[in-house]
Amino acid sequence: MRLTDLNSGREIGANCLLLEFGGLRIVLDCGMHPKHEGKPSLPKLDLIQGSIDGVILTHCHLDHLGSLPVLLRQHPGSRVYTSAASALFARRLLSNSIQVMKRQREENGNQDLPMYVEQDVERVENALAAVPLANPRKIGRGGEEISLSFHLAGHVAGAVGCMIEHRKKRHFFTGDVHFQAQRTVGAAAFPREPVDTLVMECTRGATASIPGFTRAKEEARLIKAINRVADAGGSILLPAFAFGRMQEILKLLDETAAAGNLADVPIFCSGLGMDLCNYLDEASKKTKQVNFSRKILQELNVLPLSRRYVQPGKNMSEPGIYVLSSGMLVEKTPAWRVAANILDHKENAVFFVGYCDPDTPGGELIGMAPGGEFKFKGLDHTSTLRAEVERFHLSGHADREELIDFAQALAPKDIILTHGDPPARAWMKETLSKLMPATRIHDPEPGVAIEL
Ligand SMILES: [Zn+2]
Ligand SMILES: [Zn+2]
Repeated sequence: MRLTDLNSGREIGANCLLLEFGGLRIVLDCGMHPKHEGKPSLPKLDLIQGSIDGVILTHCHLDHLGSLPVLLRQHPGSRVYTSAASALFARRLLSNSIQVMKRQREENGNQDLPMYVEQDVERVENALAAVPLANPRKIGRGGEEISLSFHLAGHVAGAVGCMIEHRKKRHFFTGDVHFQAQRTVGAAAFPREPVDTLVMECTRGATASIPGFTRAKEEARLIKAINRVADAGGSILLPAFAFGRMQEILKLLDETAAAGNLADVPIFCSGLGMDLCNYLDEASKKTKQVNFSRKILQELNVLPLSRRYVQPGKNMSEPGIYVLSSGMLVEKTPAWRVAANILDHKENAVFFVGYCDPDTPGGELIGMAPGGEFKFKGLDHTSTLRAEVERFHLSGHADREELIDFAQALAPKDIILTHGDPPARAWMKETLSKLMPATRIHDPEPGVAIEL
């Protein structure tokens, strides 16, 4: 196998790998960089020489899916192999991505946007081929053939890792992975047997584990904090990705409310997240890869967030729990807009429940001392931080120790690090080199092929 990382930098960015097996070419994931826009947000697709024989989609987060319509416009005949659940989600998330890009164009006049239109998304939908779990699919061309099999990856609804076998060699790709069960998806069910190559994510490579930490304890700490703020009449903003994290939080709130342990205040949600509840419900019924019921929205009496936002700086007109996207408080999103009403008032709180990039408004807020000035560009408003800000570690990504343990179980000849910022990659490389001296550890240079 020849592997070329088409991500534009050594970061989480726009995930995309070109895999070549003799003359057979496969692209694994085709994401959009969340911090760039227009052409710079795409992977290096121009490095793909000639036609491709298939695309593998590990899951539907936009850093893996977001540029797929552009790739298929260039290679219209390709199939996209994915899980049954992801095949249900892809179109909805890509259509939303068009809406976001159109809004960006209106705001900043970037003529490159949107990078694709509904017709391109339709092409993706028609190309999707749902591959059953652990059921090898052969892909071949001109005498070369690979066998592809999917294994549930935890992480988010529909996420899979994959094993590719080619000429008696075995290559395993984790995609984004979580080895512990969440509420909407079970733990990763990966094979733990020797392989030749392991391509591994390392999102949390720079995050030391907290001794005695468990997800259950962290959820209890979050609920206690929500109840404390709600009982004192404050509002709680929970910034959450609309796909996956939001349904996880709603399920936690629902199970807590059913046990009589949640403060009785209204719960508000943004539109895309509520809509995706229906998609997870459908996937739950059709595939058994997801565990979610849309009934949760009724049981919690979740209200859609009004698009008529309160004037920045004024407190929310109705105290409650606001579960809003985006998880990193990206500008112009519902969570960012509502933060302009939350931050100035000391009875309120912002509780982060997922990964937050330090270069986003969410990352800026996490690092801010009380009394700091938080600027809302485009709203002509600056908040003085009086609300409580706290992080809860409910990430959908594996701990670095679990990744190391997994790598040791597979005892590969080569490990390729992906999906991590430079400090995360550095820690993983150093630790793996020490523990597995017989294994070559690669931190791939974007665009440069590695022979495996
Ligand atoms: Zn992901
Ligand atoms: Zn990702």
